[in-house]
Amino acid sequence: MSTILNRRDFLRQSAAASAGLAAALSVSCGKPEVRKPNFVFILVDDLGWRDVTCFGSTFYETPNIDKLAAQGMKFTDAYAACPVCSPTRASIMTGKYPARLHLTDWIKGHVAPKAKLKVPDWTMCLDHEEVTIAEALKTAGYVSASVGKWHLGDEDYYPDKQGFDVNIAGYWAGQPPTYYHPYTVDREWNNHIPTMESGMDAVYLTDRLTDESLTFIENNKDRPFFLYLSHYAVHTPIEGKKELIPKYEAKIKPAQAQKNPEYAAMIESVDDSVGRVMDKLEELGIADNTVVIFMSDNGGLSGVGDWLNITSNAPLRSGKGTAYEGGVREPMIIKWPGVVTSGTVCSVPVISIDFYPTMLDMAGIKGDPGHFVDGKSLIPLLKQTGTIDRETIYWHYPHYHITTPFGSVRKGAYKLIEYYEDGSQELYNLIDDIGETNNLSSLMPDKAEELRKMLEDWRISVGAQMMTPNPDYDGKPYSIRGSQ
Ligand code: CA
Repeated sequence: MSTILNRRDFLRQSAAASAGLAAALSVSCGKPEVRKPNFVFILVDDLGWRDVTCFGSTFYETPNIDKLAAQGMKFTDAYAACPVCSPTRASIMTGKYPARLHLTDWIKGHVAPKAKLKVPDWTMCLDHEEVTIAEALKTAGYVSASVGKWHLGDEDYYPDKQGFDVNIAGYWAGQPPTYYHPYTVDREWNNHIPTMESGMDAVYLTDRLTDESLTFIENNKDRPFFLYLSHYAVHTPIEGKKELIPKYEAKIKPAQAQKNPEYAAMIESVDDSVGRVMDKLEELGIADNTVVIFMSDNGGLSGVGDWLNITSNAPLRSGKGTAYEGGVREPMIIKWPGVVTSGTVCSVPVISIDFYPTMLDMAGIKGDPGHFVDGKSLIPLLKQTGTIDRETIYWHYPHYHITTPFGSVRKGAYKLIEYYEDGSQELYNLIDDIGETNNLSSLMPDKAEELRKMLEDWRISVGAQMMTPNPDYDGKPYSIRGSQ
């Protein structure tokens, strides 16, 4: 209880101090205050590392995302904190590892009641004790909007209860029933979208979220704002705009790994959204003072037998839900006008817990001293003045989903995966073997043990929840198809 009060006091006092400071500056200095940067954070759902042209796709067409990369910095080794939705979103909101939050699976998670290990009693919401990035920015006078997918708990935990001034379309826990007219299917949508005009029910969801985002930007162009545009696309159901599909059907060649024309159309709509947002910032004359961040929450849906092969993350191995690079490596871009040199590329491993401290650093906000952050500010990388003080990046997934439960760690070129059912290990050199085809664990037992021990120590340090033997284990190997 005292923690909650302390946090609320911090938010209240900081907001008051911020308002007072702004007033003092405007009166005593006689010149305009240097304005804090706006933030536009575009999060795409399930977009794979190779799903945009500037990260290597030759099938999908993403000229606007490519333009963003050309104007900013592209991160080749950027990771989601989890290979599924909700934990990565929580890491963005808090700057903390999902393992520390005990929010380690998508909400409400996958059930495997007869599996060998019992899943811990994890947290299916973003706890109110956490100071979200929206709450932290609010202390410095920012207005914030969450437009699109939230996926961090039910109504008591919606964005408007977590520091966002505006919550649009944050209703569905997972995915919408359809991309074409979801707000006529689900009445609850109306409670979380401000304007419902007649004739709009046929608008494609990705376009509608973009429309709402542009309205928010226009309405707040004269004050610091934070727009969290969290697309439901390109998650299933795979439904592209009809008029965009034939172009991709005509491009399909038999040997192509990426060849789903509806998925390609979904990506094009996301790309169009990025372009419309960038154009609006230019049109309003605020592009030079707006940081644009582009990210995905987990890897592309790929590599699971013959039934979940929507895209291909090749040369990365596998996809969403797995420990492999295809599950967690993301196409990340940051545009920071006047600071980041256009068209730069960074290969230092970074992770979604880093956005929180980076954004606060960019805005010159110290943050709540009681809110511990696992992430690191990326400013030395963005300014190309140095590197970040971190050797290792960790994952902890005590859940059955696409694979059996696992933990993993990347240190430099090496990545170790430990499967919790039997302690089996896989060790890869990602520089020599980005496709994780050559398991080095028996060839390099000392390196494997070094990383395994680091992973174990980290789990203890963050208070990670561990799995326990399942008394209801049926003795059979786990299979996602037979687990629900
Ligand atoms: Ca996702």
